[in-house]
Amino acid sequence: MLSGKVALVTGSSRGIGRAVALALAKAGADVVVNYAGRLDAAQQTVDLIKEVKGRALLIKADVANTDQVKAMVDETKKEFGRLDILVNNAGITRDNLIMLMKDEDWDIVLNTNLKGVFNCCRAASRLMLKARAGRIINISSVVGLRGNPGQVNYAAAKAGITGLTCTLAGELGSRNITVNAIAPGFINTEMTAGLSPEAKERLSQRVPLKRLGTPEEIAGTVTFLCSPAAGYITGQVITVDGGMTAVI
Ligand code: NAP
Repeated sequence: MLSGKVALVTGSSRGIGRAVALALAKAGADVVVNYAGRLDAAQQTVDLIKEVKGRALLIKADVANTDQVKAMVDETKKEFGRLDILVNNAGITRDNLIMLMKDEDWDIVLNTNLKGVFNCCRAASRLMLKARAGRIINISSVVGLRGNPGQVNYAAAKAGITGLTCTLAGELGSRNITVNAIAPGFINTEMTAGLSPEAKERLSQRVPLKRLGTPEEIAGTVTFLCSPAAGYITGQVITVDGGMTAVI
């Protein structure tokens, strides 16, 4: 389905990003595996892609750093000659109540989770505009739709992704570039690994499907949004949360 296409997945050393990179490789795409610091984990993603006979390029870059993002997209062009799919997945948390939140915690989360998306969209859309085709998928969160006490920085960044997604859908649509976001609920990754079993059980009880999600369930929606079947979908935020935000 995606053979001949090139996908860049930010933060694909582990968690949701790794599952997305693998799913796109299985669908036939060549994949750029981006990471920030965990080379061992990123190399494992590359090995998994090679196991399914995919082609992968490993690039270390901090998405918050404009120059590093530009260099990453330049290297992608040099190696693969094109960029068809951008998945903005890299993200971090630095949780605290507002009275206790330090400037550094606000800045690093906004810079990584929102400016990082802007940096990658700007650099990638230059190639996509020339090609008159492209798919951009931004990984947001239900927290950006509803809020979550203790995550004012994270929720603000994720809510910002909605405005960015809608705006870019409008700016890039005439060149056949779709821009969508996915808002996952609570997914089993290292990001949620710090939650106690009791907290996970409490969260699961709020979910109609009575469990946390898996990275593969987010990757499935990403793969769909990259497919020809999703060619007329743009400017949307698709919630994948086991029904959590559908009920009170
Ligand atoms: P994770 O397991 O903590 O993995 C985070 C990934 O982001 C890693 O690959 C990490 O690279 C990379 N990363 C962090 N900072 C980066 C930077 N500055 N530049 C480039 N890469 C960077 O997280 P996850 O749970 O898979 O989450 C992935 C995305 O889904 C995030 O945007 C998150 O906000 C969103 N999300 C997650 C959940 C959830 O419940 N897990 C729910 C809703 C939304 P290194 O390995 O090199 O550090």
